[in-house]
Amino acid sequence: MDEPVVDRVAAVEQLAARRFDLLVIGGGIVGAGIAEAATAHGLDVALVDRADFASATSSGSSKLIHGGLRYLQMGDVRLVREAHQERRYLMNVVAPHLVERLPFLFPLYDDGPHRPIVVRTGVLLYSALARARLNGRISEQRALRLVPQLKTTGLHSSALYADARTNDGRLTIENALAAAGRGAVVLNYAAVTVLHGDGASVRVDGETIRVRAERVVNATGPWLDHLRRLEDETAQPSIRLSKGVHVLVDGGGDWGAAVTIPQSKVRVSFAIPWEGMLLLGTTDTLHEGAPDEATVTDDDVRTILDEAATAVGGIGPMRASFHGLRVLPGGPGSTANARRETVFMRGPSGMLSVAGGKLTTYRRIALDALEQLGVRNLDRAPRPLPGAVGLAKVDWPLELDPATRRHLLHLYGSRAADVVRPALDDPGLLEPLAAGRPDLRAQERYAREHELAVHDEDVLRRRTTAWLHGDGSLGSGHVSEADAADPAARS
Ligand SMILES: Cc1cc2nc3c(=O)[nH]c(=O)nc-3n(C[C@H](O)[C@H](O)[C@H](O)COP(=O)(O)OP(=O)(O)OC[C@H]3O[C@@H](n4cnc5c(N)ncnc54)[C@H](O)[C@@H]3O)c2cc1C
Repeated sequence: MDEPVVDRVAAVEQLAARRFDLLVIGGGIVGAGIAEAATAHGLDVALVDRADFASATSSGSSKLIHGGLRYLQMGDVRLVREAHQERRYLMNVVAPHLVERLPFLFPLYDDGPHRPIVVRTGVLLYSALARARLNGRISEQRALRLVPQLKTTGLHSSALYADARTNDGRLTIENALAAAGRGAVVLNYAAVTVLHGDGASVRVDGETIRVRAERVVNATGPWLDHLRRLEDETAQPSIRLSKGVHVLVDGGGDWGAAVTIPQSKVRVSFAIPWEGMLLLGTTDTLHEGAPDEATVTDDDVRTILDEAATAVGGIGPMRASFHGLRVLPGGPGSTANARRETVFMRGPSGMLSVAGGKLTTYRRIALDALEQLGVRNLDRAPRPLPGAVGLAKVDWPLELDPATRRHLLHLYGSRAADVVRPALDDPGLLEPLAAGRPDLRAQERYAREHELAVHDEDVLRRRTTAWLHGDGSLGSGHVSEADAADPAARS
């Protein structure tokens, strides 16, 4: 894989000059995954996002790469089996540094919504579909060793199963970078404003560019119908949106498992040790306004903390919160019951819209999209993302403490050495990027020079974990060289 084109001026020029096989609109995991797969199949691709890559749903998920225990309950055995297979591919081949196995504890309380035998049978079937060692009932002592904050009053028993967690923002950006490494033009802060029969008009850095492409994919997630209406103003609504909020609190450092907390017969919430903090959530409420109008409310936060407190004691102070919008097929019924399948739609000028699905199955969604676009001889085998190979042989250019090395390896895989190398000449790059987090200033530089970060928030929130402590400011009035060079970068 080549070094990707990450020079913004060059990318804008190429966007206007080339004629592409495929224009992908939307740089969430679905659009970035399609761009990655399309370039691997030899297509000349442009990928644009109106904001930063992964700035919408794809950094607002529960971070789980999972079969989905509750889909089993909804009778979706095929979806669970496929998702488990994808989990194995991601953990073993595609991004072993970013996708880590994580045990899940399912506590069953006397006054809980489920009969213990039903849950234990479900967990056994789930583990069989996962081709995992069969899990099931574990002792209270073992449960407490895994989750020291577990509440034991009224605890009838606990079941254990395994899934995986990831850093969703980085997984998405790595897909975009992989596409760029194979020659795709990949540009954030580039919004499609008009669709034409042979491409689109894209608003970028205050100018409108005409992008020409043979085929167009609409991977705009919550904005899907907005784009469909750009193609056909009479297009009827095809999706519903459900808001899911998460809260980050201190803690989780001594946890060996996440907790799946049953809230009703159809809904669970999670407490997940993630990036050195505890991630709690999520909610599931119908969102009827425009995607940009969704916010985290006090009620959302209260609900999450109350629900977590049914199984977890001594919850630490809240540091940050965020929301995401699930894209569900339109139609009546509760959002919690709605199926999480992917739907493909063709517009009158041929644009392919991709709605719904899961982070976990993004590779499969991308391949199915290519099939819909008529790409032949699809190679469905998993391919490593940048940094996924050579994890055991990283040649560190300088001394770093083991915790920092682990953190960098997790985020960048074998490219971690490249991230810190400039610190040989500029030791200030080894200073922390934000209080209370393991990220280094070297990561900021790498994000701006190699990972298409434009704004401070792109660095803090999606390319590093600096923001998670709720303290992720680069300092008031901080204007980086990149921002200074690019007036559009200051917002
Ligand atoms: C609360 C919640 C929890 C979840 N948890 C999990 C989980 O644990 N595991 C799992 O597998 N899945 C999970 N999911 C599902 C998963 O997060 C989504 O399926 C996935 O992120 C959707 O990605 P996407 O690319 O379709 O959409 P998005 O990530 O929303 O990307 C769409 C992109 O389109 C861009 N865009 C919009 N309009 C334009 C335009 N005019 N021009 C250019 N770009 C445009 C936007 O800026 C955005 O970046 C969860 C979802 C939610 C909401």
